[in-house]
Amino acid sequence: RVKLNFKQLHPFVSGFNRQSDKTFPGRSTIGEEWYGNCSLIETIPNKNESAMNSLLLIINTLLIMTHTLPPLPYAMDALAPKMSKETLEYHYGKHLQTYIDNLNNLIKGTPYENMPLEEISVKADGPIYNNGAQAWNHAFFFNSFSPTPKSAPEGALAEAIKRDFGSFDAFKEQFGKAAIGLFGSGWTWLAADKNGKLVIVSESNAGNPLKKGLIPLLGIDVWEHSYYIDYRNRRADYVKNFWDIVDWKVIEKRFKK
Ligand code: MN
Repeated sequence: RVKLNFKQLHPFVSGFNRQSDKTFPGRSTIGEEWYGNCSLIETIPNKNESAMNSLLLIINTLLIMTHTLPPLPYAMDALAPKMSKETLEYHYGKHLQTYIDNLNNLIKGTPYENMPLEEISVKADGPIYNNGAQAWNHAFFFNSFSPTPKSAPEGALAEAIKRDFGSFDAFKEQFGKAAIGLFGSGWTWLAADKNGKLVIVSESNAGNPLKKGLIPLLGIDVWEHSYYIDYRNRRADYVKNFWDIVDWKVIEKRFKK
């Protein structure tokens, strides 16, 4: 049986995903559902599994990878006023697009040309790392939100947070403190190690936990471009309001993997 490489498939499938209401189960680079709707797959009679696998293998083999802007799982104005339409127009529409365009130009003719973003984030250095990790980070970041979010974790994640930070409130306080205290541009992350132990890590610039062998669960972008339109210089207000749009249903799913 053919094992699919959804990581490689994702940029291709994302271009199709508004053409069909039906979903196909799998995982994208960041483990979310963007890849889910592929009209091509729907053309296979009875969703025959081996036929689907063969088709996807062919697509994967023929694919010349170009990274594309991943679709947002909500409308541009859906998170306002916590995160305004104007912020998303710039942050998602322009900053993220620029990282993706830079990356596509930088990887031409290099060993990174057909590599998924996650692998680039682990293996690359210099400009390819900066743009590749930023492309991954932002996709992950924008997919953490919902206009109707689950406001707190339950189950295994809730238990792990309690075990490793004392309580959910104590976690939010530590995470917020790290995000507010990070000097300059960067990201603060909640991540899990291989044993499921949770840690908070702050990284400068494009830094993310993948390079350290950790599994990212939640990240907050504290580059000024992420909050200056809505909060001006008040990073603490941005961090406080961040909690009102984080969808813990998404974070729970990431933890389960
Ligand atoms: Mn950003």
